[in-house]
Amino acid sequence: MRAPSPFWVVKCPDCSTEQTVFSRPASAVSCSVCGATVATPTGGQAKLRGELVRSLGG
Ligand SMILES: [Zn+2]
Repeated sequence: MRAPSPFWVVKCPDCSTEQTVFSRPASAVSCSVCGATVATPTGGQAKLRGELVRSLGG
């Protein structure tokens, strides 16, 4: 089954940097600037700590 939006642009909750993350990551995704966790894996779609700005690739 194809996910409609495989990538998400997420805003870091700590420094507000926007970055692109895979929507179904195998491991936690950290902010490239401050290192805060912005997405955690769940086995399916990631649980986001930051704000979802938009989806890409839909
Ligand atoms: Zn950050």
